[in-house]
Amino acid sequence: WEDDEHVVQINRGFRVEFNSALGPYKGGLRFHPSVYLGIIKFLGFEQIFKNALTGMPIGGAKGGSDFDPKGKSDNEIMRFCQSFMLELCRHLGEHTDVPAGDIGVGGREIGFLFGQYKRVTNKYESGVLTGKGIGWGGSLVRTEATGYGTVFFLREMLKVRNDSLEGKTCVVSGSGNVAIYAIEKLHQLGAKVVACSDSNGVIFHEKGIDLELVKRLKEIERRRIADYVTYHKDSKYIAGGNIWEIPCQVAAPSATQNEINGKDAKTLVKNGCIAVGEGANMPTTPEGIKVFLDAKIAYGPGKAANAGGVATSALEMQQNASRDSWTFEFTEKKLDEIMTSIHATTFETAEEFGATGNYVVGANIAGFVKVATAMVAHGLI
Ligand code: GLU
Repeated sequence: WEDDEHVVQINRGFRVEFNSALGPYKGGLRFHPSVYLGIIKFLGFEQIFKNALTGMPIGGAKGGSDFDPKGKSDNEIMRFCQSFMLELCRHLGEHTDVPAGDIGVGGREIGFLFGQYKRVTNKYESGVLTGKGIGWGGSLVRTEATGYGTVFFLREMLKVRNDSLEGKTCVVSGSGNVAIYAIEKLHQLGAKVVACSDSNGVIFHEKGIDLELVKRLKEIERRRIADYVTYHKDSKYIAGGNIWEIPCQVAAPSATQNEINGKDAKTLVKNGCIAVGEGANMPTTPEGIKVFLDAKIAYGPGKAANAGGVATSALEMQQNASRDSWTFEFTEKKLDEIMTSIHATTFETAEEFGATGNYVVGANIAGFVKVATAMVAHGLI
């Protein structure tokens, strides 16, 4: 692709089509300098079981590129997306492989990718990508879905323990699409989020994060979270800080993989954290997961807790297939039902296998059995 100085730039792109036993390959695209084949493989592997848990007819895949969107102009983003799609398009199709967004890929990127797919294939194939804009095939609630869904899952985990989100002090890492809508739903359900972050640092605001400001800074102006403090003198910016040192009852890691290690998990538990809902994919290391499970707090692994995003992508595909568009209320109700059902399935499966309250066991077994059963039915050779 060509940058604004007319210099040719090279990036590497990937798509790992992992499993199509339950439906067309489905999973997001990540644009981030850390992307290499190993990251796309682990994300694609997790996606298989996450997608199975949603109960929707979707297989598992992931893709992306080591392209860094940070500091790029809209035109550079467009030219990169066009270059990437020029190759990717031959592998896609509404019945074959349906990408969406992930880190670094939102509505703007999906628009450029869709335009290029249409241009090259001469097809208006709405169902080939999800996360599309409202007005040209996108679904209401898709933007909010991952964050909202994570909070619905947290709500269900607390319900089993005769508790609720009402009045809880929460910490949500990140300040991207997942974090923003996790904060929004937590606030709607009566909790208070006191901290969020980006890769440079942490914002602590004891009276509660001003979400409209975060939305403006991150979604519209594409600025860093450090700028938050210039609008709220009573908030604090901790450059390079560790968000897990801020005491909370509920944590929603919503930034990226491996953001909570064993030590962070211990700090959270020691400070009184009773529930963790993973908005990101694999944000907790194996050592961290062990700490949460040993402490018997409510721990919702990403493949269950953050499945609301891809589930709503499947609802978008459903609307595209019937050339329909649903209301916000109707779609959010469907998302809530799906998350409630994922919680019930993972809770009951854990119980059945003698690991009551262990959502890791519940999610892995329930997801695996569904996929394996279909694969065996389809014939192994
Ligand atoms: N990237 C999201 C995930 O990790 C969404 C994928 C999709 O909607 O296809 O599940």
